[in-house]
Amino acid sequence: MELQKLVNRAIDAKKFALSSYSKFPVGAALLTASGEVYTGCNIESSSYGLTMCAERVALFKALSEGEKSFKAIAIATDVDGFCPPCGACRQVLWDFAKDITVYLVNAQGDHQTLRLSEFFPHAFDDGFLHHD
Ligand SMILES: [Zn+2]
Repeated sequence: MELQKLVNRAIDAKKFALSSYSKFPVGAALLTASGEVYTGCNIESSSYGLTMCAERVALFKALSEGEKSFKAIAIATDVDGFCPPCGACRQVLWDFAKDITVYLVNAQGDHQTLRLSEFFPHAFDDGFLHHD
């Protein structure tokens, strides 16, 4: 899949954001190694702490359908800058997608390309856990 299509899927997913409290819609489009795309938007609850980010919605959709290998994620917001994923999403993306390519898409549709490790260095992961 070409980059612009993935970017457009993230922008389209943003339209479904349920962000009435924050007024901060986010869309994400996750590209699997097999070429499938799973999208997500942020979903906010009246009990704010139950809110879920667009990135994790997309990732959990993919994981729940058996996907295991990921190539890239595009994340679209309505801000002029390039808004990175929150700390929680960085951790979960690292857990399941390791050093994935991340495209940050701003309000104008321009993007910045980063690796997850560039803004999530020294990550904790299951390599530190004791396994039998
Ligand atoms: Zn997040």
